[in-house]
Amino acid sequence: MGKFLNARFDCITPYVPGEQPKGSYVKLNANETSVPPSPRVAEALDRPLIEALGRYADPHARPLKRAVAQALGVDERAVFVGNGSDEVLGFLFLTCLDQGDELAFPDISYGFYRDYATTFGLAGTEIPLTDNFEIDIAKFEAFPGPVVFANPNAPTGLALSPDEIERIVQAQPDRLVVVDEAYVDYGAESCVPLVERYENLVVVQTLSKSRNLAGAHIGFAVAHPGLVQDMEDIRFSFNPFTMSALTQAVGVAAMGDEAYLRQCAEAIVQQRERLGDELSQRGFEVMPSLTNFLFVRHDCFPQDSLAKALKSRGILIRHFDQPRITDWNRITVGTASEIDALLLALDDALAEVQALPGRGVEHGNA
Ligand SMILES: *Cc1c(COP(=O)(O)O)cnc(C)c1O
Repeated sequence: MGKFLNARFDCITPYVPGEQPKGSYVKLNANETSVPPSPRVAEALDRPLIEALGRYADPHARPLKRAVAQALGVDERAVFVGNGSDEVLGFLFLTCLDQGDELAFPDISYGFYRDYATTFGLAGTEIPLTDNFEIDIAKFEAFPGPVVFANPNAPTGLALSPDEIERIVQAQPDRLVVVDEAYVDYGAESCVPLVERYENLVVVQTLSKSRNLAGAHIGFAVAHPGLVQDMEDIRFSFNPFTMSALTQAVGVAAMGDEAYLRQCAEAIVQQRERLGDELSQRGFEVMPSLTNFLFVRHDCFPQDSLAKALKSRGILIRHFDQPRITDWNRITVGTASEIDALLLALDDALAEVQALPGRGVEHGNA
């Protein structure tokens, strides 16, 4: 720790993103894709854009907001854009919450919510998922302060319906409900249409997953125009140029290609069903998922032994060292050939543990 660190950050525990290793691994650990973005993105990055790089980009990011608004069928003034939904959530919390305020989120969810709480000096409260790993609607209805959760939730893959979320929103019109829809394009129903009716609802989405653009890091919120304006005021008091010309051009191109989004999402859904079947046949418990990942466990692979066995075979998946889910693993649904590679490695690992005496008990590194 350096000499000048703000004392508020003494205990900060920065988020640990999924590993991004150098070697030639099959990467199924961070829910991104190896599929290129819409061909329109490559076109957008060509000559005219490069020549325009000497100028500052539109600080209001109007073309990108317009593209998002058109794709979602909402008013442009209801859209806030940022460098990933991470940054969008950051501006939202900075705008709306004060140090010491409470913020509730599920005990098992996107790890970043807790990190925001620390960064912004909020009192983070974990609301436990039910025994079935579902979001506890009644507890979220009753919580007296702002709440944030992912829908579908990560890493479980389970989703609430818009009706259920509406109940949480309606329960207390004076507190903020933030719904993180990072995975909504893989089969869940979006709450975006509800935003028009509820000033206290904010829906956040990203281009990092279903639009194959994690490397460009673009996210957005749909919210009441008054709240969006407040967030813009805060952003303009911090850095009006968060969205570079490159980022905006990439975002506009990707948001304009609905057909490509559908095509990519359908391919994932198809592979998700296939992978789920293959894993069940091999004795895995597989949580039903509406995302581009599966949350799975197997009696022969306690704790992080599955992730280790697969890593030694060139495949990365994600294990979270966290109570309640110590035996579970999150596997990103990749392309057909990535899943072929995963299944091969898995069969090899299974054959090895099943040959061991006392199989499944504290099996070490493969
Ligand atoms: C991946 C993910 C994000 C991060 O999205 P970015 O736009 O890349 O910042 C946010 N929320 C959840 C639940 C995610 O899984």
